[in-house]
Amino acid sequence: MLIPRQTAIPELVRVKPGALDRIGIYAGRNEFTRVVLFFSQGLDDRLLARLTGSLRSKNVQVLQQMQIESVSFEEVTELFRQAPRNADAIIGFGGGKALDVAKYVAFLSRLPYLSVPTSLSNDGFCSPQSSLTIAERRYPLPSAMPFGVILDTAVCLDAPEILWHSGVGDLVSKFTAVTDWKLAFHAQETPVDDFAALLSDASVYQFVARPKRDLDGMRLLGTALLLNGISMSICGSSRPASGSEHLISHALDSLSKRPRLHGLQVGVATYLISLLQNQNSRRIAALFDATGFWQAIASDPFDRAEWLEAARIAPTMKSDFYTVLSSRDCLPEIETALRSDPNLRLCFG
Ligand SMILES: [Zn+2]
Repeated sequence: MLIPRQTAIPELVRVKPGALDRIGIYAGRNEFTRVVLFFSQGLDDRLLARLTGSLRSKNVQVLQQMQIESVSFEEVTELFRQAPRNADAIIGFGGGKALDVAKYVAFLSRLPYLSVPTSLSNDGFCSPQSSLTIAERRYPLPSAMPFGVILDTAVCLDAPEILWHSGVGDLVSKFTAVTDWKLAFHAQETPVDDFAALLSDASVYQFVARPKRDLDGMRLLGTALLLNGISMSICGSSRPASGSEHLISHALDSLSKRPRLHGLQVGVATYLISLLQNQNSRRIAALFDATGFWQAIASDPFDRAEWLEAARIAPTMKSDFYTVLSSRDCLPEIETALRSDPNLRLCFG
């Protein structure tokens, strides 16, 4: 008998310029009259005023409004305990941390979550995970998919360019993640969800065909990252979005003196891993040429010794997770690539 698959996907998706000013309308349509708002530290006051003004214009009451600085699990569960019990929905507004926290509090409260990113630096604005720290280390914890994603492309275009590079870096990791997933299937029979892999692949190509930093480029990058989050929800695993390139980035987060934006680490690691997988390297390098990613990294290069150590411990970052790094001792190849590959040499000063 065919058992219908249940997949959580957002019911409300708006990806367009000016969407921020319509959030009151979207909330009203879904009968959200009382909301809790978590927003990023350092968020532009004018953006916050636009969001709260739009809610007010439709008589949506903000019961609690909090600036988020920490993603520690203990503090987030405390926020959940203190959250008003009569809210209809939770809004996360800004960048990574505020969105992770809002998503997790909504998940614990079993309330609809509205994700309102102000930049596209990673795929966390529409994924079924929250990245929180436990004992100083960051872990992806199972969470709920957003009920709504309101992505104002004009606001994202105004965000600093480095955040865009980070988003591009996180997006291309789908090439190596899907290859790792297939390697894991052949080596260990890790089940591959065909549709999730297909969607993950397809989402990258939409953007690769037109990698420009303009309004339409923001729409394509935003949609691609969003579909990628949905592909994780389809298969109930992070496999379509995260492979060995993410293990290296997680390792860097734990050992680097100065961890960098997630997508910058992941983007360079993706290119490095593509060399080991012997697939997609030229495509990734060309995309990084076209978007100016290489130059962005070269202007503030990474530390080669830290990367070698991160590559060494990367396979231990996640148990029972087969990748190209599990297939052989890759360290000698990585050492050579960091030293002699012309693109990577740019990234390491
Ligand atoms: Zn990522």
